[in-house]
Amino acid sequence: MSERAPAPGSLALIQSLVNTLDVETGADSLDTAEGRARFGLPEDGLPAARELRESLRAALLAHAGHPPHRAVTPLGELLAAAPLVVTVDPADGSAALAPADARPLLPRVAAAVAEALIAGTWTRLKACEAADCHWAYYDRSPAGRGRWCSMQVCGARAKMRRYRANRTEGT
Ligand SMILES: [Zn+2]
Repeated sequence: MSERAPAPGSLALIQSLVNTLDVETGADSLDTAEGRARFGLPEDGLPAARELRESLRAALLAHAGHPPHRAVTPLGELLAAAPLVVTVDPADGSAALAPADARPLLPRVAAAVAEALIAGTWTRLKACEAADCHWAYYDRSPAGRGRWCSMQVCGARAKMRRYRANRTEGT
């Protein structure tokens, strides 16, 4: 499986939301009607969606042991405003955590975090440590210690920077 393959299950929603912003260029696909439609987001929901996006990014950076990229509202504080309910399927008795109101983005994100928590995948969704990237990626490395969205792109760039720094020191 490619390291750029989307995160599994409910995490794909969170990953695609975090990755609506290109940190390096500042291009934000939520600026377009098409980009907002992907998340069922009304235009007046933009400020809240952007706040949620950066709180998520800070949590994904924390998964990889990094401090927040900037001051954010703690994710837990935002998610506390989105109650989840336990639903039970009468046909087979299976239970799930679902948003009390499934229309807005915030409760859907809260349910996605809960689902990933149950699946044991939440802490594998990380943000790339490169400051000009911070892309959300799913860490598929066996030990779960991946640091970059892509070894070929950001990993290689970090290695190149270290290599140059060492050479400069040596001369
Ligand atoms: Zn990266």
